[in-house]
Amino acid sequence: MAAVQLSGIYKRYGDTQVVHGIDLHIDDGEFVVLVGPSGCGKSTLMRMVAGLEEISGGELTIGGTRANGLPPQQRNISMVFQSYALYPHLSVYDNIAFGPRIRKEASTSFKPRIEAAAKMLNLSGYLDRLPRALSGGQRQRVAMGRAVVREPSLFLFDEPLSNLDAKLRVQMRTEIKALHQRLKNTVIYVTHDQIEAMTMADRIVVMNAGRIEQIGRPLELYDRPANLFVASFLGSPSMNFAAGEVVSTANGVALQLGDGAQIPLHGANGANGVNGVNGVSGAIAKPGAKVTLGVRPEHIEASDEGIPMDVEVIEPTGAETHLYGKIGGASWCVTMRQRASIEPGQRVTVRFPGQHMHLFDTESGRRLG
Ligand code: ADP
Repeated sequence: MAAVQLSGIYKRYGDTQVVHGIDLHIDDGEFVVLVGPSGCGKSTLMRMVAGLEEISGGELTIGGTRANGLPPQQRNISMVFQSYALYPHLSVYDNIAFGPRIRKEASTSFKPRIEAAAKMLNLSGYLDRLPRALSGGQRQRVAMGRAVVREPSLFLFDEPLSNLDAKLRVQMRTEIKALHQRLKNTVIYVTHDQIEAMTMADRIVVMNAGRIEQIGRPLELYDRPANLFVASFLGSPSMNFAAGEVVSTANGVALQLGDGAQIPLHGANGANGVNGVNGVSGAIAKPGAKVTLGVRPEHIEASDEGIPMDVEVIEPTGAETHLYGKIGGASWCVTMRQRASIEPGQRVTVRFPGQHMHLFDTESGRRLG
């Protein structure tokens, strides 16, 4: 088991810096997911932890020991990649036994570990098979088996589910989480898939352009995104946004959108009525401020009075229905749990409960308040 500490870690390729001073502490036994769009530097960061990329600057410690410059095999880590990297001519057993044999372990020492791993990963009946006679999910489990028999203090997963079809991805997600709950090892898991991050992580690290945007527990980030990037990255369909200017109205402050529509800001960002008009503190929403309102699709309510939305596209998923249309000139999505007989072209009116309105400074993107 190992805690991992990254202090001011950066990475340069020639003149180009791609990771800009990352500070991150990962507790022993924690499951941390690095998530962000393609090219944001998550794989580079993880490969530096693995010892597969040189660290250009900063300090890395694993289990309290400085690991900069330590060869990968001395870091006591196991890595599972997107490509399972199995040897096609070796059986499942021999694939899993490959590492221990290379390390010249006695078979009496590793055989029980392989059998235990195979049992845990539902591979016991497949130990004599070649990889080509396995399904994608089974091959991914062999790759995990190989990682597990090392009994590492740290597991690194780099987009391990990207090659699997949607159904298998969901199933393996649960299996990896269950595996972690059983082994209680430290895990760093890289993905571009925000659903994987939300469902698997103890803590999520959202990255963008080589920097950390926010770190927190999944629902903390979902409920209180620190900026527009995190707000739009987590959640599917994604949070809706409308930029406008704060104005004073007879009932307090409202957001005036480009098309003249006004959205009352009562209760936005959790403001409780203290120190301001209409429940929004003066500092949060001063008249004249350029502010972006964000509301998640599932938090929008149909109402007899409210903001008009002209419905353009309707997507039933079975469990819920997504309505797409324009609010304040921007495209918005509304998720309804009930089935509704709404047609494209129809106008509906909606309201936004104050506690589910997120306000951001339009220029800096930062959450207000
Ligand atoms: P992610 O895993 O988030 O998709 P990467 O860590 O793979 O992102 O890449 C981060 C950035 O570093 C990208 O802009 C990528 O083009 C750049 N990069 C990665 N590897 C190299 C390399 N060997 N040489 C130069 N640039 C690289």
